[in-house]
Amino acid sequence: MTQKRAVCLNCIDGRVQLPVIQWIKDNFEMDYVDMITEPGIDGFLSDSTNPIDEISRKVRISIEKNNASIIFIVGHHDCKGNPVCESDHRDHILLAASRLKREFPEMTGVGLWVNSQWKAERL
Ligand SMILES: [Zn+2]
Repeated sequence: MTQKRAVCLNCIDGRVQLPVIQWIKDNFEMDYVDMITEPGIDGFLSDSTNPIDEISRKVRISIEKNNASIIFIVGHHDCKGNPVCESDHRDHILLAASRLKREFPEMTGVGLWVNSQWKAERL
């Protein structure tokens, strides 16, 4: 049976890795999650003056070599890399998702918010 793979753009923060991986495995029936991290990656990608090239290179390897079929973009509560309020995080996640959609139009993109209970929610 083919194993299903997701690629996830997440913060470096160690508090959010396992909750996000578990949520994706449970809700999208994925076997593995390739993780690409950057501090406050939702804020990083939402600012169009930040280059996307290096992140795109990594996403492309996940798609082309590991057969990732879906992209997740994550923002989380109490993020030191992107210290903004929840509503700004939600905006940043959606902006980042649309930027990724332009880079990878063939891929489905899903935004996730990790709340103060360290539970992931789909946006
Ligand atoms: Zn963070």
